[in-house]
Amino acid sequence: MAEPLFDMSATGRPRILILGGTTEARQLAERLASDSRYDAAISLAGRTADPRPQPLPTRIGGFGGAEGLAAFLRERRIALLVDATHPFAARISLNAATAAEMTGTPLFALRRPAWEAGPGDRWTCVDSVAEAVSVLGDAPRRVFLAIGRQEAFHCEKAPQHSYVVRSVDPVMPPLDLPDVTTILASGPFAQADEVDLLERHRINVIVAKNSGGAATYGKIAAARQLGVEVVMVERHRSADVQSVGDCDAALERIHQWLSPVKDRGV
Ligand code: NAP
Repeated sequence: MAEPLFDMSATGRPRILILGGTTEARQLAERLASDSRYDAAISLAGRTADPRPQPLPTRIGGFGGAEGLAAFLRERRIALLVDATHPFAARISLNAATAAEMTGTPLFALRRPAWEAGPGDRWTCVDSVAEAVSVLGDAPRRVFLAIGRQEAFHCEKAPQHSYVVRSVDPVMPPLDLPDVTTILASGPFAQADEVDLLERHRINVIVAKNSGGAATYGKIAAARQLGVEVVMVERHRSADVQSVGDCDAALERIHQWLSPVKDRGV
C-alpha cells in the first residue's frame, strides 16, 4: 500500500511538496526526510518502470494538469512547492507555475545549471531533438543517442545513420531503423566508461540534451577527449520562477521562506 502523504490531522509543521524525477530531487528528499521541522513528500511522474525507493512518502502519476495540481495543493494545504523536475520536463514546470499562482502557494525551482562548452568541445547547438536529427546530415554516421527514450522516435526520420540508443527503460514501440543497438542503463556514467563505449561502437557524433549535472557529464568529457562532435539540444526558456542550482541553496531557501509561515502556525 502507498505510504500516506502528509498527516492532515497535524498542524504546525509546514508541508512541502517536491516535484521530482531527478538526482537533485532525491538529494533534497534525503535532507528533508531527516529534518523534523517539515512534513515533506515527493511526487513522481511514473515514467520509470522500476523506480528506486524514495526517502520520503511518495505519490506517483500526473495530477491532471495545472488545475489538478492546484486542487492537490489546496486540499493538502501545501506551504511550499519545489519544482525539482528535469530541465527538459517543460509541461510539469509550467503547470507548477500556474498552479502556484492559482493557489498563492510559494514556489521555487531546483534546477541544475546547464553545461557550457569549453576549449576542445565540438558542439553544434540546436533547439530540439528533431533539429538535432536533421543536422546529422545526409551522409551515414555512427550516432550515440543519449536523450532518453521519449523523443528517440525522431531518429526514424534519418534511417541512413547507425544508432546506439541508451535509455533507462526500453524505447516503446521499438525504433523502426535498419541499424540500431540499444543499451539499457542508468547513470551516473564515468568518463572512462563513456570513452570505452564511444570507441567500441566507433561513434562519430553524440546527440545529447543539455541536462547539466555531473551524473551524465561523462559522455561530454569523453567526446572532448576523443574529439567527437556533440549535437547539443539546448533548454527552452522556462517560466519566470525563482530558482536555485543545488540542494544546499534549496534548503537555505526553504528555511528562509518557511520560518515565518511556521511561526504563523500553518
Ligand atoms: P513533462 O512533459 O513536463 O510532463 C508531462 C506530464 O507528466 C505532466 O503534465 C504531468 O501530468 C506529469 N508529470 C511530470 N512530472 C511529474 C511529477 N514529478 N509528478 C507528477 N506528475 C508529473 O515531463 P516529462 O518530460 O515527461 O518527464 C517526466 C518525469 O521524468 C519528470 O518528473 C522529470 O523530472 C523526469 N525526467 C525527465 C527527463 C526529460 O528529458 N524530459 C529526463 C529525466 C527525468 P499531469 O499534467 O497529469 O499532472
